[in-house]
Amino acid sequence: MENTVIYTQNLTKQFGDEVAVKEVTFSIPSGTIFGFIGPSGSGKTTTVRLLTGLYRPTEGKIAVLDEAPTEFSRATQRKIGYMPQLFVLYDDLSVWENLNFVASLYGVGFGRSKRLKEVLDFVELANHKNKVVRKLSGGMKRRLSLAATLIHRPTLVFMDEPTAGIDPVLRRKFWDHFQSIREQGQTLFITTQYVGEAAYCDYV
Ligand code: ADP
Ligand code: MG
Repeated sequence: MENTVIYTQNLTKQFGDEVAVKEVTFSIPSGTIFGFIGPSGSGKTTTVRLLTGLYRPTEGKIAVLDEAPTEFSRATQRKIGYMPQLFVLYDDLSVWENLNFVASLYGVGFGRSKRLKEVLDFVELANHKNKVVRKLSGGMKRRLSLAATLIHRPTLVFMDEPTAGIDPVLRRKFWDHFQSIREQGQTLFITTQYVGEAAYCDYV
């Protein structure tokens, strides 16, 4: 396939006798939303960890941005964003301070304040930038996690159940965000347990 960003062939991961991911094959073209849908325990998180190089496959092939994830170059790592199922934020730091910390980890240097403002506008948290995270609602924390995932302008973004357990209104809003990220040319790999969310994806 042309412009393939993620490619797997017979991807398999075993933990002892437990087969977590079995012979998964797919290709994802750039600039699309790929929905990886399945119930709890179906191997979504394991797959994301394989695609980001945290696990080595037991069998099968993977290419992400033309590299094997376990051997990502520094340049390729910088192109990738990852929102884990439980994103770690610091409760005692403000929205701005949390985001600034993540930006420094990613080496966002030049124009950092401008980038922080941009991302906070995008997730509609600009008016809450001085609030400590402890005082945020669950939905606001999710939006801050999304902002932190996007801070370094990744071209490929992995999100592990970003809409789990949030109300339908915010879920809809998140999908609007994902689609506007896609409109900017980025590729999104999104896992979910909600079959209905397939409607927002280009491929499932
Ligand atoms: P999902 O994210 O879809 O809920 P997971 O990828 O977390 O699914 O898990 C898939 C299966 O692999 C489950 O049966 C889980 O118990 C098992 N599993 C996941 N991670 C490990 C691990 N580190 N060690 C052993 N078994 C694991
Ligand atoms: Mg999971």
